[in-house]
Amino acid sequence: MDILKLTDDSKVKFKKKHYNTFGLMYGSPETGGTCPHATLGPGGCLTLKKEGGKNKTCYMDKLVKAWPSVGRSLVSNTALLAGKSQIELEQILLATVDEFIKINSGENLYFRLHYSGDFFSEEYAKAWASVVKQRSNVRFWVYTRELDRVHLFVELSNITVFLSVDPVNYLKGLEVYEKYKLTNHIAMAYLGDTKPEGHRWVTCPASTIKNSPEIGACGKCRLCVDNYVTKVKKHPIPYTLNKIMNNVTNSSVDQTKGSMNRIITLRRPDQTGHSDLAMAVAEAIAKVIEERYENSRAPYVNGEAFIFSANSNEDTVALMQDTIRLRQQLLESPDGQVMVSLMPPAVGGVS
Ligand code: SF4
Repeated sequence: MDILKLTDDSKVKFKKKHYNTFGLMYGSPETGGTCPHATLGPGGCLTLKKEGGKNKTCYMDKLVKAWPSVGRSLVSNTALLAGKSQIELEQILLATVDEFIKINSGENLYFRLHYSGDFFSEEYAKAWASVVKQRSNVRFWVYTRELDRVHLFVELSNITVFLSVDPVNYLKGLEVYEKYKLTNHIAMAYLGDTKPEGHRWVTCPASTIKNSPEIGACGKCRLCVDNYVTKVKKHPIPYTLNKIMNNVTNSSVDQTKGSMNRIITLRRPDQTGHSDLAMAVAEAIAKVIEERYENSRAPYVNGEAFIFSANSNEDTVALMQDTIRLRQQLLESPDGQVMVSLMPPAVGGVS
């Protein structure tokens, strides 16, 4: 099967020969592009080549002129998808993602959609939503001006969708963002000269982080990839560990079984000053859960006990390892709900 040509983008990659993105033709469909809602006007992504003229240009124009092979790959990728049904599109996209997984031997599975181009049709966006769902081991991210297609990704937790908002489409962008702002993986990427007052925001550091042959700025920064929620959004998750801790006394796994299908258990803090640890662990877990699950879902509850190895909140290495272990457990879990609960104190304190 023909697949999209993957690109080893110097900014987006996490490692040498990562090939973790692809591009489509840029610009409006009437000029052969895949960006139906490209914005024209002061601050928009398209500008007129000549004042008063009709020909529009995009920042990709310069890139393609400098690197003709980039242009050829955009043209061939766009041609491959043109005129295909949703099922055919899904087959091509799935095969493309599987090739990416194969190239990377299942590691560093961070994939950016569209370093150029956009969700040019409803069928194409739906095909991607299906592929993202099927490849839950891959962490995707994308920027889009196709604001009416964002809803297709709201239920998926392994993709972060950035609404590309500029002074031209700001109001529409804000409207869509307001609708989904409690969904942790729907975010806004604002391209403007002024500060987005009234929002928490971070400036993209790409121009100050040097790409190296081994890793690009995004691989180092990861803000858009998997750090967005903890660094910028910080919405409360529906169940925080603290809340559950307060609500549960002498709770055990068995007490919560039945109504919940997944429980991660912690030992209760004892009387020996371990409440600091409990707080540190609570914070670590809350971060893990926040990164993994959108707000529209309650956390899991699972029957498997998760016993922390850290024995003080100074024990940062163990705490980190616990967090990694927990993160892995969550990644391997099917979608559902996670709840962190407590077990009675172990003899000798937290274990
Ligand atoms: S904020 Fe970070 S991850 Fe996002 S585009 Fe900029 S460098 Fe890449």
